[in-house]
Amino acid sequence: MLKIYNTLSGKKEIFKPIEEGKVGMYVCGNTVYDFCHIGHARAMISFDVISRFIRHLGYELNYVRNITDVDDKIIKRAEENNESTQSLTERMIAAQREDELRLGNKMPDREPKATEFMQEIIDMVQILIDKGFAYQGASGDVYYRATKFKDYGKLNNRKLEDMLAGARIDVEVSKEHPADFVLWKQAKEGEVSWDSPWGNGRPGWHIECSAMSTNCLGSHFDIHGGGPDLKFPHHENEIAQSEAATGKDYVNYWMHCGAVRVNNEKMSKSLGNFFTVRDVLAKFNPEVVRYLMVSSQYRSAIDYSDQSLLEAKVALERLYTALRQQQVADSFEPTVFTERFEEAMKDDFNTAVAVSVLFELVRELNKAKTEDVDKASLLAAELHSLAELLGLLYQDPEYFLQNSTVSEGLDEAAIQALIDERVQARKDKNFERSDNIRDELASQGIELLDSREGTTWTRR
Ligand code: ZN
Repeated sequence: MLKIYNTLSGKKEIFKPIEEGKVGMYVCGNTVYDFCHIGHARAMISFDVISRFIRHLGYELNYVRNITDVDDKIIKRAEENNESTQSLTERMIAAQREDELRLGNKMPDREPKATEFMQEIIDMVQILIDKGFAYQGASGDVYYRATKFKDYGKLNNRKLEDMLAGARIDVEVSKEHPADFVLWKQAKEGEVSWDSPWGNGRPGWHIECSAMSTNCLGSHFDIHGGGPDLKFPHHENEIAQSEAATGKDYVNYWMHCGAVRVNNEKMSKSLGNFFTVRDVLAKFNPEVVRYLMVSSQYRSAIDYSDQSLLEAKVALERLYTALRQQQVADSFEPTVFTERFEEAMKDDFNTAVAVSVLFELVRELNKAKTEDVDKASLLAAELHSLAELLGLLYQDPEYFLQNSTVSEGLDEAAIQALIDERVQARKDKNFERSDNIRDELASQGIELLDSREGTTWTRR
């Protein structure tokens, strides 16, 4: 039985899909005005792992993740760059896909863009106006009437009045109430806009997710996920919009991944501790970043630092070292390791425990290498199959161990040339030269391992 922590109830619940054997999952994707940072990577990897395991359990999953390709930040950045919003968003969508594939993610089944769902968005705003849940203010913007939705605040377990207490009351004169939020915004001169019954404009952020999720998955679906900062107001507002528009329950299970902290501080541009995926991948093999993300359960906060990446690298090297020059059987009978791995994953996708099971398996595998080679090759196959559910161990062990960090120093060809020269020196019994080459490589962080099959190397 799969258990999922539901933000809505604040409890772990036994997962029951609306339709037997099928799961609909909508995850809020990124606003594509800049490169993905490691907080985005965390969310994207978390829901990738979640989707893999849901499928592994035999469910037919429809995984939808939207792309916010119209928004104030996009308009501002495009203006600064002196390019069209479309050219900016296309570049950033391509960059996101590239980052994500490098991090070992499988792409969602569908990635709807806000700009492709304008009619559906406008239709939903109209329904909300017709039902009295929305109004056009004096400025021409259309707002959601938060006080009219009696369950407003249920996701965050807060009352409307409490949410406002202490908050800066913004003095947008055309709103009836400070908690009201925008559904449709009037366009300024020259801005990208769409024709609507309320004039030329563009949608507010929240309404796009209500409109797209309903259109892709139906008005009531199983799982809705996103990053920790989306609980309020984004997801609260989505519930208010969708349930008011359809008159039905919107989502059964709300899932939120944890934050990424940098050296124990909140990551933010103003603190200068902000890392894009590209920054990190310039220093580390992408699988090291992925390992760091999946070695904690998706809900816990992750501390990101060079130290935590180095620890992740060392841990992953241990797994890959067990597979180095190791036979892998074509198939295997699941053992107690699979059972325990699945048990951990069924407990709200506890990847931290699942990863620890991989290490137990590796200890057994290393033992079997000298005692029982057939058993070792079966365990290696089992290790691969479990790691695949986390998106790990997909590289050739030799390649990973040589490229777990990206060195600015010697490239592979140069290293191989020195190794070849050393082989020749040893044949010539020139041990001084042979030792010098070893030392020279060591000074560049390259460690040589000699065996009967030849010489392999690892970056330290
Ligand atoms: Zn959203």
